[in-house]
Amino acid sequence: MIQASGLHKAFGAQPVLKGVDLSLPKGKVLVIIGPSGSGKTTLLRCLNLLEVPDAGSLRLGDAELRFQEGIKLRGKDVRSLRKRTGMVFQSFNLFPHMTALNNVVEAQVTVQRKSRGDAERRARELLDKVGLADRADFYPHKLSGGQQQRVAIARAMAMDPEVLLFDEPTSALDPELAAEVLKVIKQLAAEGMTMVIVTHLMKFAADVADHVILMDEGVIIEEGAPRDVFSNPKSARTAQFLNILA
Ligand code: ATP
Repeated sequence: MIQASGLHKAFGAQPVLKGVDLSLPKGKVLVIIGPSGSGKTTLLRCLNLLEVPDAGSLRLGDAELRFQEGIKLRGKDVRSLRKRTGMVFQSFNLFPHMTALNNVVEAQVTVQRKSRGDAERRARELLDKVGLADRADFYPHKLSGGQQQRVAIARAMAMDPEVLLFDEPTSALDPELAAEVLKVIKQLAAEGMTMVIVTHLMKFAADVADHVILMDEGVIIEEGAPRDVFSNPKSARTAQFLNILA
């Protein structure tokens, strides 16, 4: 499970997160929606410490960290929390000089210290799972964006994370290629993978989420089960946001 309390984050004088609380049980999917600039990506990046919050606390499984401005985190604590997460970025971020297979093998060998043979076996299993068994030896530039993103998902899964974090995983893709990525994410949800997903795709959010939070100006302004947030929003601001997208 993942739990965040009172997360604050500012960039210089600009507060971007102003006290965010969230809690996600194991096996559930949390979707974060909200207007551009509302702090969605920053919140997601705080969950794996790509950004370090200024205040608040974060718990992931049995790793817990408290944040206080001016107090530096211990590298060991950061690593312990970070290794429990896998991140999938908007722009795939594959290693361009490595095949799909080696992209998935790499951290298993260097971080998890697995043997090359074991890492390859696991990588092939995962490439098969994302529908790319026949692309293992392709370099990223020979793959479509949708295929690259599926390799990125396999790569993140290879570290056996307790939670997978997705930052607008399909926003760089044409609808057809996005669909194949969304299908893989839905399959992971059905298998009980714990996930936090930032997306602008409301239909996908409604389909995949167990819980939706709507961010605006650094705070959560509405949250709940998707059918409540989408069909019966409590605030006028939520209704206005959903209307713009409809
Ligand atoms: P979008 O939907 O457009 O991706 P978002 O809701 O994900 O937006 P964030 O990317 O979290 O929003 O950005 C929130 C605010 O924080 C923005 O005003 C952005 O310019 C600012 N910001 C984000 N990252 C940084 C950074 N590293 N340095 C300075 N400002 C930043």
